[in-house]
Amino acid sequence: MVSTRSGTLIVGASQAGLQLATSLRELGDREPIVLVGMEKHPPYQRPPLSKAYLAGRADAQSLHFRKPEWYADQRIDLRLSTKIVAIRLDGPDSGSGVATTESGEELGFARLALTVGGRARRIHLPGSDLEGVKVLRHLRNAKELRDGLAAAEEVVVIGGGFIGLEAAAAATAAGKHVTVVDIGDRLLGRAVAPVVSDFYLHAHQRRGTDFRLETGVTAFEGATGRVTGVRLDDGSVLPADLVLVGIGLESRLELAEDVGLACDGGIVVDAAARTSHPGVVAAGDCTVMPHPLGGRGRVRIESVQNAVAQAQVAAASLLGIPSEMHAVPWFWSDQADLKLQIAGLSHGFDQVVVRGDPESESFSVLYYAGGVLIAADAVNAPRDFMVVRKALGEGRTIPADLAADAGTPLKGLVVDRPRAISA
Ligand SMILES: Cc1cc2nc3c(=O)[nH]c(=O)nc-3n(C[C@H](O)[C@H](O)[C@H](O)COP(=O)(O)OP(=O)(O)OC[C@H]3O[C@@H](n4cnc5c(N)ncnc54)[C@H](O)[C@@H]3O)c2cc1C
Repeated sequence: MVSTRSGTLIVGASQAGLQLATSLRELGDREPIVLVGMEKHPPYQRPPLSKAYLAGRADAQSLHFRKPEWYADQRIDLRLSTKIVAIRLDGPDSGSGVATTESGEELGFARLALTVGGRARRIHLPGSDLEGVKVLRHLRNAKELRDGLAAAEEVVVIGGGFIGLEAAAAATAAGKHVTVVDIGDRLLGRAVAPVVSDFYLHAHQRRGTDFRLETGVTAFEGATGRVTGVRLDDGSVLPADLVLVGIGLESRLELAEDVGLACDGGIVVDAAARTSHPGVVAAGDCTVMPHPLGGRGRVRIESVQNAVAQAQVAAASLLGIPSEMHAVPWFWSDQADLKLQIAGLSHGFDQVVVRGDPESESFSVLYYAGGVLIAADAVNAPRDFMVVRKALGEGRTIPADLAADAGTPLKGLVVDRPRAISA
């Protein structure tokens, strides 16, 4: 039997979905909210999965955002282990419709939000399905990886991105022999400037992690169903009893495409988190959106900050309250004892300024486009991160020629942007 079309259905019970439900209540919405997630766990934090949880310093329970009674108090109907497999909207201008779960139950809704996130990109090579070849996106993946790590000696990480490097650092610290393989010529190549890539390569090497850059993987070797090695494109084989494939994320687009929403590597949303269908919003890792600081083109931002800020805006949009995403993107990554904090988006930079000596393991890199500050990476340099984040939020800048002097606090260097540029 189809339930009546009332309240909000939120598909995806994680960072963005939970925030959307929370924000609806904070904005005074009293209508029913159904928050549906296909994992068996209540919404939990993912960042510790490659950090404290993998290192054995956090248990699954401590990752949960809320206690069970909170959902009841807020009258949020949390449905776990429930996958939505189809959605039918009532019409081209209506946000109401019916969603069908895998078990055939039909859920009617007056408003729809998609917060379906993404899945870890898989590698399709001979031996990919051997036991011991893992990805890391969900708690269940992290548990498998953690259990595997306890018994492993030789660990190979494919992909020198944030998740791969965080996991590599945890495994190295646990006394495993770890090799990171990446097809690119530098680490974190899509996210940071070469000076930061070089720093991370050397910092991880100092701590005992090995690297094979500009190296492809051609196959996984195994015995009795378990991985024993990773074959590289130079013909050599790295011994491995555990492999983590950390090669990025693919947005989950199947539901959005089914209902005809515009997608372009993510669900296309505007600054108000509205999809191409009036009445349907989307937030978090499943979206692509206009650059929040006015830069060109659409961006996909996979971060806690973005999931939260976009979900807040999406909730306001569902209730007809004008709201737009202009929050400064920020992100962090903990690798061993190195805390990287990133403010802004560095895509399109044409100049970098390095403050401090990377060898000291405390420094920052400021990114400029056309002479204007657009982002910063701060390694064990929280003050620089805070100053840049605030300056970007206020639409201000820091002259590049003054920023390089690490002896001068950045705080005193923030100025208004030249008029022609800020306009
Ligand atoms: C290991 C790891 C480390 C990270 N570290 C950091 C970090 O240090 N800093 C940072 O800022 N960010 C970090 N992130 C990224 C951050 O966790 C994500 O940006 C954030 O979780 C995005 O939230 P989301 O709700 O958009 O998507 P997700 O967290 O992917 O959640 C989507 C949810 O929707 C569910 N779902 C999908 N389809 C359906 C369906 N059809 N029916 C029902 N449910 C469905 C999924 O099962 C999932 O639970 C990390 C991510 C990972 C995996």
